[in-house]
Amino acid sequence: MVFKNHRIPWKNYMQSSPLIDHRGEKMHHFMSRLYPICRSITGEGTRKTLALLAQRMPITLHEMKSGTQVFDWTVPNEWNLTDAYIKDPKGRKILDFQKSNLHVMGYSVPVHKKIPLAQLKKHVHTLPDRPGWIPYVTSYYQQDWGFCMPYKNFKQLRAGTYEVNIESSLAPGSLTYGECYLPGKTKEEVLLSTYLCHPSLGNDNLSGVVLLTFLASILKKRKLKYSYRFLFIPETIGALAWLSHNEKKLPRIKHGLVVTCVGDSGKMTYKKSRRANAEIDRIVEKMLVDSGDPFQIVEFSPTGSDERQFCSPGFDLPVGSLMRTPYGQYPEYHTSADNLQFVKPASLADSLKKYLSVIDMLEHDRAYVNLFQKGEPQLSKRGLYRTKGTPAGRTARELARLWILNLSDGAHSLVDISLRSGLKFSDIHLAAQELAHAHVIKTIHDYH
Ligand code: ZN
Repeated sequence: MVFKNHRIPWKNYMQSSPLIDHRGEKMHHFMSRLYPICRSITGEGTRKTLALLAQRMPITLHEMKSGTQVFDWTVPNEWNLTDAYIKDPKGRKILDFQKSNLHVMGYSVPVHKKIPLAQLKKHVHTLPDRPGWIPYVTSYYQQDWGFCMPYKNFKQLRAGTYEVNIESSLAPGSLTYGECYLPGKTKEEVLLSTYLCHPSLGNDNLSGVVLLTFLASILKKRKLKYSYRFLFIPETIGALAWLSHNEKKLPRIKHGLVVTCVGDSGKMTYKKSRRANAEIDRIVEKMLVDSGDPFQIVEFSPTGSDERQFCSPGFDLPVGSLMRTPYGQYPEYHTSADNLQFVKPASLADSLKKYLSVIDMLEHDRAYVNLFQKGEPQLSKRGLYRTKGTPAGRTARELARLWILNLSDGAHSLVDISLRSGLKFSDIHLAAQELAHAHVIKTIHDYH
């Protein structure tokens, strides 16, 4: 009997492995178009942003009326801002919203009056430790008004009467969010969520918005095993709004990630799901190990972004968060210094590549059964083992085949085998394809 050689060329393994660094420039350019838009948790800025995203993926816009109850929360009134300034006693503009939308506290109620400096100071936010930066401040659920300015400018204010003007509206309207659904072979879903409520801030979190947009535009061209759901929502209230309207769909969510802070030049950080040992937790950890790049893994905590809602005890979804430097752990966070210069094209491209690697692993992970449970099958006659002993020892490919044969009892997936063997997932996956091709192993699905 003649056996075919079942070797598969060991090159171009991952669909995402070709160099994609040029994408970093394109991602950064797209970010620069989103950057000037004045966004908040509601309002026209969100709709303008979603309209730009819609040019790149099939996205559905949802509007939820102000006053709608979502669990213990209520959708707030819609906020829009058209202009704002402060004029000094001589009538000169010393603060102008047109120069930076960070100058106005988010959700400021309208105001137009003349007030003494002492009163103005109560409504001005600064960062004395970073005198050149404008802080990002919001007051969504307590009505107030405020300005934000560099401390060095604030220090120069002299006594006198100032004119303050905020042309905003806070009125019944709706909360807007965007949803892109890419159907796969199964209805089981991967949830990828990011928040778009921050105004002109780069890493937190336009980097997340841009990464998910590019990811969706890549995945929409692929044949997928899982269905993918991309959420572009205002933080917290948007996650609650989506969850409250989609409770029936939640059992379909098998894996999920919250995308945030993916454009700074720090190393990758993975924040585990509340479950701590979900498949997504193991896959992301293995992807990071295989990448050869520095990384850190942190346990779940009920602080942070929308994983707080997705992982609340009543849902406990398998949702982690893959980021670079975590929010709050870089000085530029929530200030005007988190700008387009702070976000690096190479970091955006690297983060996208790593998300694509996670998706490749999710798509390819499965459990097999070794059809030769008693003793090893003879691999050499199938072209899958060297015919002569060499002093160099086993190759990763040979090792991968042996590990798969030993652990393919139906209970271990390829990710499990790659974790236990310490071999790269790509080696394990390719070796499994060879062994399946040689009719030595079968997927559980085919076996039963
Ligand atoms: Zn933030």
